[in-house]
Amino acid sequence: MEVKKVMVLGAGTMGNGIAHVFAQNGYDVVLCDAYEDALNNGIATIEKNLNRQMKKCRITEEAVAATLGRISKTLNVADGSDVDLVIEAATEKKKLKFKIFAGLDKVIRDGAILASNTSTISITEIASKTNRPDKVIGMHFMNPVPMMKLVELIRGMATGDDTYEAINSLTLALGKVPVLANDYPGFIANRILMPLLNEAMFAVMESVGTVEAIDTTAKLALAHPMGPLALADLIGLDTTLAIMQVLHEDIGDPRFRPAPLLKKLVAAGHYGRKTGRGFYDYSGEAPVPLSF
Ligand code: NAD
Repeated sequence: MEVKKVMVLGAGTMGNGIAHVFAQNGYDVVLCDAYEDALNNGIATIEKNLNRQMKKCRITEEAVAATLGRISKTLNVADGSDVDLVIEAATEKKKLKFKIFAGLDKVIRDGAILASNTSTISITEIASKTNRPDKVIGMHFMNPVPMMKLVELIRGMATGDDTYEAINSLTLALGKVPVLANDYPGFIANRILMPLLNEAMFAVMESVGTVEAIDTTAKLALAHPMGPLALADLIGLDTTLAIMQVLHEDIGDPRFRPAPLLKKLVAAGHYGRKTGRGFYDYSGEAPVPLSF
């Protein structure tokens, strides 16, 4: 099956990046969100990031205009009923995703593939909410999507070979590198990454080191391009907590318990970069590490 037109559901951190990459590669994109502000912010972010690519001479002014011209926005899922593929990138909540997939199944044309960008929720369970479980797959992009090469592909128990092959080819056509992950909580990337971020938060909480000391250690001792606390702020602390909670509940091992400091920051509305404050304060020119 050839994919020409896609709908991206959710225009937040990941959704706008996914829409950007598809449109830049010549696909028609319907970007849909439940909230007008989120939709407008998503489009504004795509425009800002394309202009940044242009300033670095990576793309032309014409390419920026053509890419933006391929993206339409809507608050109504039914406006994407004729697409070949939906990529769901809405908030990381099980009940929400189950409801979204049951709804998509009703309005999106038969034969279209329904993919989820979930970080950790079971693709098998998401697929079970539809009448087309063979057409449901995990397509897990990395943040920031325009820059990161890897896409984890997750087959649920019912995902068909044709669905997997179509999405594998599509990932390659986007210039990305697909890896196949089995459908267990966190798949590969978050099963490995999230305990590291969570442990760094315990280390802050127990005053093992400051935010700056912990991030500097990860960069200079472990050769990570970014410290775990700065990375958690980039991912979004709300999303990080949601992922830890699914890992904890679904694997049932106490080593995945979310750090109380993470819970406290989320309860305070400090979600990291997207709200201007997390482990760092982003209100000035450069991020300032905070004390806890
Ligand atoms: P986000 O909070 O930045 O954006 C979520 C968007 O979904 C918001 O704009 C919200 O308005 C929208 N939304 C909520 N309910 C909706 C609905 N019913 N219909 C349409 N839109 C709706 O979250 P995010 O970080 O972009 O995460 C989105 C998904 O991508 C999650 O499943 C997350 O686990 C996954 N993911 C996140 C990262 C990351 O680094 N942030 C990386 C890989 C995967």
